Amino acid sequence: MKVSQITANAFWKGETGVKALVEDQGKEYKASLHIKGSQVFDYSCSCAQGNSYRGMCPHCQALFKAYEEQESGNQGKPVTTSAQARAMIREYTNGEVARIMSEGQEEQISLLVSVLVNRREVKLEVKLGRDRLYLVKDLAAFADAMDHGTYVEYGKNLAFYHNRSVFVTESRPLLDFLLESINGYCEQYEQMQKSSFSARPVMRYLNLSKTARDRFFEIMKGTTLEFEDHRGDKRQLKISGRNPDLTVTAVREGRDGVRISIDKKLLVVKGENRLYLGDLKNLSCCDQPCSETLGVFLDQMMSGYGMECETVINNKDMPLFYERVLKRIASYCTIDSGSLDLESFKPEELRARFDFDSDDPSKLILRPTLSYGTYSFQPVEDEKLPRTVCRDVPGGISHQPDDHKVF
Ligand SMILES: [Zn+2]
Repeated sequence: MKVSQITANAFWKGETGVKALVEDQGKEYKASLHIKGSQVFDYSCSCAQGNSYRGMCPHCQALFKAYEEQESGNQGKPVTTSAQARAMIREYTNGEVARIMSEGQEEQISLLVSVLVNRREVKLEVKLGRDRLYLVKDLAAFADAMDHGTYVEYGKNLAFYHNRSVFVTESRPLLDFLLESINGYCEQYEQMQKSSFSARPVMRYLNLSKTARDRFFEIMKGTTLEFEDHRGDKRQLKISGRNPDLTVTAVREGRDGVRISIDKKLLVVKGENRLYLGDLKNLSCCDQPCSETLGVFLDQMMSGYGMECETVINNKDMPLFYERVLKRIASYCTIDSGSLDLESFKPEELRARFDFDSDDPSKLILRPTLSYGTYSFQPVEDEKLPRTVCRDVPGGISHQPDDHKVF
């Protein structure tokens, strides 16, 4: 028997398919074997006994013998390509395909973000597309697709190989910001999940830290974005670099008080360094001094539950509120007090008068008199000091008869 034209094909899992022509008494047969390791686990032949269950026909046996001889002559085992090498081929091919495809793509994809603002969080929702925009349902998957140049279908009319170059130029700074933030978030998540194999949850929104808010609004300056407040009301706001036109209203309240209020529609976003105020047209990025000045005021104004955007002050605390709060914020807002004369709450200046006297060469007498307008008192002796004059701390200071040295 003569075995000729042996071909051997290695498959992925260490299997080898061996085929040859076997000549037997002037006739030629096609014999083939499947070999795993050094065992034949399947065989067939074009002869009459070729597919018998009773064992290999002489042609297959001859082929197996010839193959083994050939292999031992070749030295060593057949090699199967490793999973790593296959991954390399795949990744480089995909990357190359993505590059070539994106060069031909004239997709000109735009990105659009909506900003969702509530008391604690600022979240971004991302849409992309050309004419029609599609919601990105999983931002982590989007970042992954950008990383690998993956082809993703968003809808009937939108599918593309993900690559920075398919996005319109105006969207690229936002794209870079989003990818950096999403990847940062995913890395953090993976570190926390190190021991577990649970799948990463779908990332519908990107939550912005205070630092990220400052960066985001800096990038978006001059553009118009959709905002949604905690009530679910939407508005389009232009991101402006100017300080806001904030109006603070002061009116009489009840028998002896004042009510201070701001527009209930005011959108307040706090960044790490900046404060952002949204009316119905603009989101104003406050500069540093403005952010610092209005920060405390707005923090408190927004914090009252059921009574947000307003606060009340008793008349007796108004001089201090006027002096310490209203005068400070007045440089960055308009105070609309209508018929209420805020100047009347202007505290009168404290005057101190010291009289010295002596009735003996070894003695000196000091007599201090303090006065607010027409009201004057002796700080050391007067024990029934009216509360209205004790205004160094809101609520008054406690009078301590045993310790007159506090004055
Ligand atoms: Zn045979």
